[in-house]
Amino acid sequence: MDFVFDGMRAWRSVRRAAIGVTFGLAFGATASLSALAASPRANAKAPGKPPIMSTPKAFCDEMAQRLPNVSNGLCARAQLGLTNAKSVLGQPLFQRDVVSPNAHLRVLVIGGIHGDELSSTALVLNWIGAAQETPSNIHWRFVPLVNPDGMLLAKPTRTNARGVDLNRNFPTPSWDKEAPAYWSQRTKNDPRRYPGPKPLSEPESRWLHDEMDQWKPNLIVSVHAPYGVLDFDGPTVAPQRLGRLYLDQVGIFPGSLGNYGGVHKKVPVVTIELQSALRTPQEAEIRQMWLDLLRWTAERLGAN
Ligand SMILES: [Zn+2]
Repeated sequence: MDFVFDGMRAWRSVRRAAIGVTFGLAFGATASLSALAASPRANAKAPGKPPIMSTPKAFCDEMAQRLPNVSNGLCARAQLGLTNAKSVLGQPLFQRDVVSPNAHLRVLVIGGIHGDELSSTALVLNWIGAAQETPSNIHWRFVPLVNPDGMLLAKPTRTNARGVDLNRNFPTPSWDKEAPAYWSQRTKNDPRRYPGPKPLSEPESRWLHDEMDQWKPNLIVSVHAPYGVLDFDGPTVAPQRLGRLYLDQVGIFPGSLGNYGGVHKKVPVVTIELQSALRTPQEAEIRQMWLDLLRWTAERLGAN
């Protein structure tokens, strides 16, 4: 998840005060050097390193074993292809484009930026099927697993192979001051939330950053778990609900994708927090969330 519930209420009021102002007011720069010096041990382990998933079939074989409610058939039908991006340990990132005939909006849907949120990857794989069946005027790009190194460990981790929380590694303004300070002061150096030595220090976050720069999505949907809410950052009216998930704008964080994309780059970012990291929503719920997303996209971004 994106936030620490300790101090969440306080942070929510900080957010209200800080939007449009500078984060420098909320955080001092004092902790940045000591925070970096105390960076947590990377979680990459040599023994038991999983093989490289070099083909979509190899990826699907792994996913069918690891993910809840994802069969090899469902993954195969997603017809994933290779991107040119690789993780720290050399795992390729896979994607699938579903392009409607009159597509004039680009929507990027990503799962598994936190490697221990297995249901997020399962949801994205399910939605690839939904996108093929539902007409829209959207060019969809689905990337079901942004942090393969974190997921493929025997005990999956939120962070990538170098122990970096990718969702704190984006170059929000004043990152150098704010991200390390937030990490040390607000999370008490929680190794699960280490923002990295500098913005975009990691190949996985660099890929997403470059994708925003080059492909220029009109909307980013980032799927997480397990807090059971919907969050939104960006210049338009937020979706109020997707399926059973209701909007609760809990906060913005130095280095997060929502902060970088939605607040700084003005690209709307819908952050979905599924209710469980290990259980995928029921099929009807997956479908309802999809339809609600389509409806909101049509209303707010003019997709139809
Ligand atoms: Zn998450």
